[in-house]
Amino acid sequence: MQDRIKGILQLKPSDEIVKAEGWVRTKRDSKNVCFIEINDGSCLKGLQGVLDKEKFDAALIDSISTGCSVIAEGRIVASQGGNQTTEMAVESLTVVGTCPADYPLQKKRHTVEFLREKAYLRPRTNLFGAIMRVRSTMAYAVHSFFQENGFVYVNTPLISASDCEGAGAQFQVTTLNLENVPKTEDGKVDYSKDFFGKMANLTVSGQLEGETYATALKNIYTFGPTFRAENSNTARHLAEFWMIEPEMAFCTLEGDMEWAEKFLKYIFSAVLEKNAEDMAFFSSFVLPGVEDTLHHVIDSPFEHMTYTEAIKVLEPENSRFEFPVKWGVEIQSEHERFLTEQVAKRPVIVTDYPKDIKAFYMKMNDDGKTVRAMDVLAPRLGEIIGGSEREYRHDVLLARMAELGLKPEDYWWYLDLRKYGTVPHSGFGLGFERAIQYVTGVQNIRDVIPYPRYVKSCDY
Ligand code: ATP
Ligand code: MN
Repeated sequence: MQDRIKGILQLKPSDEIVKAEGWVRTKRDSKNVCFIEINDGSCLKGLQGVLDKEKFDAALIDSISTGCSVIAEGRIVASQGGNQTTEMAVESLTVVGTCPADYPLQKKRHTVEFLREKAYLRPRTNLFGAIMRVRSTMAYAVHSFFQENGFVYVNTPLISASDCEGAGAQFQVTTLNLENVPKTEDGKVDYSKDFFGKMANLTVSGQLEGETYATALKNIYTFGPTFRAENSNTARHLAEFWMIEPEMAFCTLEGDMEWAEKFLKYIFSAVLEKNAEDMAFFSSFVLPGVEDTLHHVIDSPFEHMTYTEAIKVLEPENSRFEFPVKWGVEIQSEHERFLTEQVAKRPVIVTDYPKDIKAFYMKMNDDGKTVRAMDVLAPRLGEIIGGSEREYRHDVLLARMAELGLKPEDYWWYLDLRKYGTVPHSGFGLGFERAIQYVTGVQNIRDVIPYPRYVKSCDY
């Protein structure tokens, strides 16, 4: 017996009794029959159930309404209607939970802004059902890619006392009484009285801890929540998001770029293969051509250019940019899009950025000016992955930290890694929600995570 509607929709007409459980999307009455569409989130389509009014109590038919939950049993028959090939001739029906008329999801199309306010019900819509199925496929693909390639899944801590490169503003974790904070003699907060005996925060990246495991298990990856107190109201930033951070020992930047390209192509292919119906839906209702861009990314070898080369290409075009470029400045998303959409017409990996716009741990090039960083840029999005070869030379790292005013004692164990059997190693980070935005074409990052957290918003 089939119990998910996705499977039931594949069944040929037969005398076998099947059971469908789900929520009623629509109900249509005629004189003799009642049509209901039952959806259970297993796919976009619902199962059409047809009830012969003569066989059912009028009160039961009346109690069916949009949003109610039902168990329907019957035979699969060829459909008379044009919208589906089969339907269920319902023989018994139980309304498990009725649904009154104030149900917020009515048949019309709701805006994503409205649905964000009803975040506890939005998975019952086509859009959010499709997004969440794709999210699930991608999460599974992340694990299968790394597991198939012999990477070890490492869970780095969420509470941390080390600040990874100041990657973003941090949320503090404390059990101190905020109404009456203990102070030291010189008037500062006395963190020795706090839970951990020192100041602690939610992690902004698991990279530094990931490096310690890569230099033991060779290839590792993390996949978990990350927190940044981003005080910005953009469509690309959340305060709580998921990040994937692989780290490979005995691996230089060249290997890092190969892994990043293979990885992206693998997860995009998994979605195209497993969520064809959802992808067709995004192409029709969210972003025309979104499937084509994924196919294009999968089929093209990524273009490579150094930051210096990128600036040479961009500088003559400065009049078209809001932020003109010159060597030394950050490449922003308008430039990233120009490089991918106009110049290369495919994803581009930019390498060897100026040291001053990148993090302290990136390996210094012999020119003393640039570091072995790489960003993967994708058409219509810009940066999707950021990574680097790490500085594995103890003396060079120490010198770089001194230059930036970072205290060695704050990074003592990170420095020790460069003392005890150091080795070239590299890694990268992919923001999971950014990747889902890219795949689905969904504009706002708040719509690709079940319960978004951002400035002034922590509902549900
Ligand atoms: P941005 O410049 O967009 O803020 P970033 O340079 O701070 O990004 P990294 O520190 O390199 O980003 O983080 C690695 C990845 O995590 C990014 O490439 C991006 O995909 C994702 N990411 C960063 N900040 C956020 C956020 N606030 N919400 C969701 N994803 C994020
Ligand atoms: Mn940021």
